[in-house]
Amino acid sequence: MYDNLLANVPTDLWIGGQWRKASDGGRFEVIDPATEKTVASVASATPQDAIAAVEAAQGAFADWAARKPRERGEILRKAYELIMRDAERFAKLITVENGKALADSRGEVAYAAEFFRWNAEEAVRNVGAVSRAPSSGARIVVQHKPAGVAVLVTPWNFPAAMATRKIGPALAAGCPVVLKPASDTPLTMLALMPVLAEAGVPAGVVNVIPSRSSGKVVSAMLHDNRVRVVSFTGSTEVGRMLLKEAADTIIKPAMELGGNAPFIVFEDADIDAAIEGAMVAKMRNMGEACTAANRFYVHEKVHDEFAKKLTAKMGSLKMGNGLDEGVALGPLVNKEGRDKVIELVADAVRKGAKVLTGGQTPAGPGFFYPATVLTHVPDSAKMLSEEIFGPVASIQTFRTEDEAVKRANDTEYGLVAYLYTRDLSRGLRVSEKLDFGMIGLNRGLVSDPAAPFGGMKQSGIGREGAHEGLMEFLETQYVSVNW
Ligand code: NAP
Repeated sequence: MYDNLLANVPTDLWIGGQWRKASDGGRFEVIDPATEKTVASVASATPQDAIAAVEAAQGAFADWAARKPRERGEILRKAYELIMRDAERFAKLITVENGKALADSRGEVAYAAEFFRWNAEEAVRNVGAVSRAPSSGARIVVQHKPAGVAVLVTPWNFPAAMATRKIGPALAAGCPVVLKPASDTPLTMLALMPVLAEAGVPAGVVNVIPSRSSGKVVSAMLHDNRVRVVSFTGSTEVGRMLLKEAADTIIKPAMELGGNAPFIVFEDADIDAAIEGAMVAKMRNMGEACTAANRFYVHEKVHDEFAKKLTAKMGSLKMGNGLDEGVALGPLVNKEGRDKVIELVADAVRKGAKVLTGGQTPAGPGFFYPATVLTHVPDSAKMLSEEIFGPVASIQTFRTEDEAVKRANDTEYGLVAYLYTRDLSRGLRVSEKLDFGMIGLNRGLVSDPAAPFGGMKQSGIGREGAHEGLMEFLETQYVSVNW
C-alpha cells in the first residue's frame, strides 16, 4: 500500500550530521491514522541526546554565522528546489503520518518549500542603520547578529511547514537549530535531513530529535546557556509552560499558539465567495489548523442561504484514506483529537444545536469524522470557546456590525479573523476593530511566507514569515562610534 515510500525514511536521531540511536535505546511507534497501523518505529531522544544536539549546533554556529549571506541564501534556494523535486514523496509521507488528504499535503509541501525560497531572499536583506546621535554627535551604528542556537518545537498538524517556517529564517539569519517535531508526525522532518545535506547545509546546523519525553527533552535544552532562541508552535497551554521555562535562562521566545477564529459574513457579502472562503478557512487540513474558522457569525438576513450552501458543499466532500485520489477528507490525527470533536459536537447538540449534515462517527478503523454543519449553536456551547480542530462548522447569527465585532473579539485568542462584505470601507473599519494578528478580508486563507504570520493576546508572541520572521533569530547590536 505504501509502495517504497517508507523503505528509505530515516528513523533515528539526526545529530551533528549523523544518524544516531537514542542514548537509552528507546523508540516509539508512528501510526497511520487512516488504518491505525504502525508504519515506523522512531528513536526517542533523551535529555542527554538533546544536550548532544545542542553541542553539535553550537559547534556548527561560528562557521555558519560567518558564511557570506549570499552563500547561506544559495543553500536555502537549493533546499527549496530539492524539496519541490521530491514534492510527491513528501506529500505522501505527510498523508501517511498525519492523515490529511493528498491534495492538502501537496499544498503543504509547496508552502513548506516556499519558506526556504523566501528566506533565501531574506538572507541577503539583514540590513542595519547608521544615524547621528542628536546630542553627542556620535554615530549610532545598528546591526543584527545571529542570536545563537535555536530550539524549535513543532506540532503535528503541518509536519513540514511548521518546521520549515522556523528552519528557513533561522538558517538565513545564521543560527543553527535543534528541532523537536511532534511525536505523532516525526517522519517528514527526518526525511528532510538528507535533502538539506544534499543542498549543502553543513553538519550540525540542523539537528532533529523526535522524542516521546518532550517535556524533559525541551526543558533540558531550555536550561542550557548555549540556547538563545526558543521558537514554538503548538497549544497555548504548552506555550505558557515553555515561556516559564525560557524565563530561567532569559531565552528569546517566539510563540505561535492556539486560535479561535471568527468568520463573519455581512448581509452585503458575495455569498458564493463567502462559501468558497469558508470551505478553505474551515476545511483546509480537515479543520486541524490554528487558522481554522471556529465560529461562523452570519447576518440573520443571509443566514439561511449561507447555511444551505455550506451544508451542500460540506456534505459532498468525499471521506476516506487521504492517499486515495479524489478524497477530500482524511482521518483526524489520532483518537484523542477525534474524541474531542465528538465531545464538542455532543455538548452543542445537547444544548440545542441543530445538525444540518454530518455529526455521526463512522465505524473504524481510522480516526474519521465527517464534515459537519451545526446551526442554532447556543452561546454556552464549549466549541465556541475551545478550538474544535476538526471538520465542524458552528453557525450563529448576528444583527449589527457592533454586535459582530464584540462577539468576534470575545475570546482570549487573537490569531486570525475572516470577514466577508462587498463594502470595502466597512471591511477595513471592522478589520481595525478586530483584535487579531491576521485578517482575511474576503479571503479564507491568510498563510503566506511573504506575510507576517502570528497572533495577538494568548495566540502568541512574535511573527513568522515576511521580514519579521528573520528578525526573530537576530539580536540587535548597536555600536556608538566616533570617527
Ligand atoms: P501541543 O500539544 O502543544 O504540542 C506541540 C509540540 O510541543 C509538540 O512537538 C509536542 O510534543 C510538544 N510538547 C508537548 N508538551 C510539551 C512540554 N511539556 N514541553 C515541551 N514540549 C512539549 O500542540 P499540538 O496538539 O501538537 O498542536 C495543536 C496546537 O497547535 C493547536 O492549539 C494549534 O492551534 C496550535 N498551532 C498553532 C499554530 C500557529 O501558528 N499559531 C500553527 C499550528 C498549530 P509531543 O508531540 O511529543 O507531545
